[in-house]
Amino acid sequence: MVYSARCSGVPEAKPVNEKPLKAKGESPPLKSEHEKNEISDPVDWGYDLYPERRGEKYKPSWTKMIFHGEGRENLDKLRCEENVYNCVKNSPLVKLMLGALKSSGCAVDLRRHIACEVCDPSVSGGYDPLLNQVVVCQNVARNKGVVQGVLTHEMIHMFDYCRNTLDFKNVDHLACTEIRAANLTHCSFLSAWHQGDASPFRIQQQHQECVKTKALQSILTVRSVTEEVARAAVDRVFSRCYADLEPIGRRIRRNSPDMHKAYLEAPLYGYD
Ligand SMILES: [Zn+2]
Repeated sequence: MVYSARCSGVPEAKPVNEKPLKAKGESPPLKSEHEKNEISDPVDWGYDLYPERRGEKYKPSWTKMIFHGEGRENLDKLRCEENVYNCVKNSPLVKLMLGALKSSGCAVDLRRHIACEVCDPSVSGGYDPLLNQVVVCQNVARNKGVVQGVLTHEMIHMFDYCRNTLDFKNVDHLACTEIRAANLTHCSFLSAWHQGDASPFRIQQQHQECVKTKALQSILTVRSVTEEVARAAVDRVFSRCYADLEPIGRRIRRNSPDMHKAYLEAPLYGYD
């Protein structure tokens, strides 16, 4: 199963010309430790990765249609929706996440909470906390395997948003949910590739490195923060968030029965 190297984290519908108004002469309030790690300007929250989030329909130019084979958005959308439906019916991981969300009071309605859209080619999916929607990028996530990866990854963000009062403007919170998503899906599949010739200790090291790298990439894809800021956030929250395996309960290894075990055991932990 192929996972996109860059699954975006958390897109924000970018507010247009919307900066917080400040009264003249008003001194800024003292910041708490928590607030210090927040990105204050909403324009800095994200890049322009999800044009359709702003209500713009993606329009290919005729040159693009000829040279890059674009202009088949409706077909792509249909195929994407088919893949989503297929994962919801058949993927143990996606079913587990749907059950966990339902049990946590955030039941997912396919039509309302999952959207296939054209995105910037650098991302394969995203989670929009403003609309509480998972975005599957129909122009990038083109097969069932990738769609399953996107859905599971983004539904971990959705779960964190549902379960905790997660604040995506806080870079520590963002780092935590990206660490969890990389830990529970992406890196666990990759780590097993090395199992033949590596000692268990080595695997553990590699896995942690993979999670750190992947989380860092995700943060840098969706937020205009410097690498230092992102890395510092990952380091601050790493041990706590790496240890948090809810709701999957285990790191899934590639080509192993883990996915099915996790799904079968879900009711033991109170997930449907
Ligand atoms: Zn993410």
